[in-house]
Amino acid sequence: MTCESCGGEEATLTEVQRMYVTPAAWDTEESVKPAQGTEQWCEPCMLHYPHQVVEHS
Ligand SMILES: [Zn+2]
Repeated sequence: MTCESCGGEEATLTEVQRMYVTPAAWDTEESVKPAQGTEQWCEPCMLHYPHQVVEHS
């Protein structure tokens, strides 16, 4: 399977929702916006980029 973030071939991928983080500046507060839709990510990408794991119930 191919990770949709780094394009690497990984045996195990996790469905996540990418989060876009805008750091706080002198005139704005930090903002965190979820991306549209979900992606399949490998473990290194989950360590390096902000995201939320999609829970299937
Ligand atoms: Zn990856």
